[in-house]
Amino acid sequence: MHNLKFPTFPIEHDTIENIPVVPEIINAGYIHSVESCGTVDGPGIRFLIFTSGCPLRCLYCSNVDCRYLENGKPASVEELVAEIQKYTSYMKSSGGGVTISGGEPLMQPEFVREIFQQCQRLGIHTALNTSGFCNLESAKSVLEFVDLVLLDIKSFDPKTYTRVTGCDIEPTLALAKYLNTINKPTWIRFVLVPGLTDQPENINGLADFIAPFNNVERLEVLPFHKMGEYKWSELGFKYLLENTLPPSPEQLQATLNIFRSKEIFAI
Ligand code: SF4
Repeated sequence: MHNLKFPTFPIEHDTIENIPVVPEIINAGYIHSVESCGTVDGPGIRFLIFTSGCPLRCLYCSNVDCRYLENGKPASVEELVAEIQKYTSYMKSSGGGVTISGGEPLMQPEFVREIFQQCQRLGIHTALNTSGFCNLESAKSVLEFVDLVLLDIKSFDPKTYTRVTGCDIEPTLALAKYLNTINKPTWIRFVLVPGLTDQPENINGLADFIAPFNNVERLEVLPFHKMGEYKWSELGFKYLLENTLPPSPEQLQATLNIFRSKEIFAI
């Protein structure tokens, strides 16, 4: 790879202030992996790009192996877009497109923006999966080229949010409000963790926050699972939810009922 310009912000950063605000052309970045036929991260069949690096420290993270930017491998926009184009017919005939997930894609805003911009030029639908823990000003330039946002709101109660993620909820709520302001199609995702995020006040708070937004097309309740637990011990991290069980069907239904009672399309 020649003449590649990679993101220059620090690999280890804990504050959103460290993310550059002034966009510049970046034609390469760090990714964990790609998948050519995803079906759950947006509509239709999707080409998925998982970027590396994430500022959050979610207790249930199943992608803990892409916690740091340096965990990823370098990839150029050019090679990724060439790979994406091999699947254009599948994506278009199924109403799908490209989803960039992570990690946290907005840790590499210029890289992600370049990929999305080129996809849209090719008529390919673009979706961004983010926790919303980002610098809003740099996110805005990415969102210009995003057709759909999948926004993970890990909790609504600020203390629970910090307990789950190790971070502050405010950037996520600020992004959610901005997405509503610009009427950007958005799917909200909420992970239901028994004993952690399942408090009725927490769920009601999120429902009341989301209900007035006209841009939110659906809310997905994702049941807690332990599929990534083995990675924690492999990497020498302590997994604190080892005794937590997935929610029961009744718990899941009760949560959906709260959202649906506020006329939110929850699934
Ligand atoms: S936001 Fe996603 S990738 Fe980041 S720590 Fe949380 S679950 Fe893991």
